[in-house]
Amino acid sequence: MTGYREAVVDLGAVYANVGHLRQVAGTPHLMAVVKANAYGHGAVPVARTALAAGADWLGVADIDEALELRDAGIDAPVLAWLHDPDADFAAALARNISLGLSSARQLHQVAGAAAALGRVADVHLKLETGLNRNGVDEPDWAETFALAARLERAGRLRVTGIFSHLSNASPVDDAEAIESFERGVALAGTAGLTPPLIHLASTAAALRTPAARFTMVRVGIGIYGLSPFADQTSHELGLTPAMTLRGRVAAVRRVAAGAGVSYDYLWRAPVDGCLALVPLGYADGVPRSATGTARVDIDGHPHPLVGRIAMDQFVVSVGQQSVAVGDDVVLFGNPETGVPSATDWADAAGTINYEIVTRIGRRVPRSYRGGVGDEAGGGPI
Ligand SMILES: *Cc1c(COP(=O)(O)O)cnc(C)c1O
Repeated sequence: MTGYREAVVDLGAVYANVGHLRQVAGTPHLMAVVKANAYGHGAVPVARTALAAGADWLGVADIDEALELRDAGIDAPVLAWLHDPDADFAAALARNISLGLSSARQLHQVAGAAAALGRVADVHLKLETGLNRNGVDEPDWAETFALAARLERAGRLRVTGIFSHLSNASPVDDAEAIESFERGVALAGTAGLTPPLIHLASTAAALRTPAARFTMVRVGIGIYGLSPFADQTSHELGLTPAMTLRGRVAAVRRVAAGAGVSYDYLWRAPVDGCLALVPLGYADGVPRSATGTARVDIDGHPHPLVGRIAMDQFVVSVGQQSVAVGDDVVLFGNPETGVPSATDWADAAGTINYEIVTRIGRRVPRSYRGGVGDEAGGGPI
C-alpha cells in the first residue's frame, strides 16, 4: 500500500458481515443502512456489495443520499426517512425512492406529488415509540392510519412498511418500545393497512433482541464490521471491521530529553528518542480529543501519539525503533491483525466507533479491496 493518507475498505468484509447478519437475524428482509456515505466507507460500493450479499433494501437518511445511489445506477429499493420541510418528494417519486413518513403533513405532501406525477408513492409510516425524534405520536396513530388508508384507496400511495427505532437505553425500555410498536402495527391493520415490511431493529437489536426483528432489520454499523456494544467486540459477534485507516510517515527526527512536541508542548520527551510525523489530523477525522491517549501501529509495532493532534498531522513517539520516512502507519483496522481498532480510537476520544469511521474526511481517498467480481482486489466494484 502506498497512499500518503488512505482509508482502505475491504468489501469482502462487508459482504461477509451482511451474510452473517442475515443469518443471525433470520428475517425475510434486510435493509443495509448506507447513510452518511455508508458511515464514511463509500455509499455506492458498499450498497452494491450489500445487495450482492443478499440485502434487499437500502436505507438512507435523506432524499439526496437516495438520489446519489440512483445516479450510480442502483435500482434496488431505497428508503429515505428524514426530510426537509420543503423536501422535493416529486424528485424522489420520479426515481422510485420509498419514503419514510412521520406526519399527516408529509402524507399530504407526498400524495400531492404523486398525483401530479401520476405515480403511486411507496410509503413506510414511522411511529414514535419512545425515542422522541420523529414518528407519529400514539394519540395520532388512528387518524394518521385512516388518512393513509384513504390515500391508498385513492391510488396516491401504498403503505408497504411500518417502522420505528429503539433507544437501546435498557432492555426494559426497549421492551416497552416493542410493545408500543406492536400496538401500532395492530391498529394499522384495523385501519385496513397491510404493510408487509415491519421493521424496528437496527444492528444492536438485530443481534440481541429477537422480539424486535419482525419482517426486516435495518443494519448499519454491523455491516461495517463494528460492534454496537461496549461489552462485545466485533470478533466476538462474528463481524470483521471493513475500514483500515492508514498513512505513511512524512518525517522522522531525533529529539533530546526535554524537547516539547506540537502545540502547547503538552508533551516533552522524557528521554532522548525518535519521533515520526503522520500526515493525518482532525481535518481528516482524527479526533483531537484523542490527544494523549491514542496509539498507532508502525511496521507492526504499537506506539503512542504524543502532543496535540493538529489539523493535518500528529506526532508519534517511536522510542528506539528505527523508523523511516515512507513507513506504513495504521491508525486503525481489524484488531485481529494486531492493529488498533476504531473502537480503541473511540475510547481514546470519548466517543463511539460510529463517529470515528463516519467522520473520516474528504481529503482521505477511499480505496477498495475484495469487491464482488474483483477477486484479485484493487478497484471499486
Ligand atoms: C442509522 C439508523 C439505523 C442503523 O443503525 P445501526 O446501529 O448502525 O445498525 C437504523 N435505523 C435508523 C432509523 C437509523 O437512523
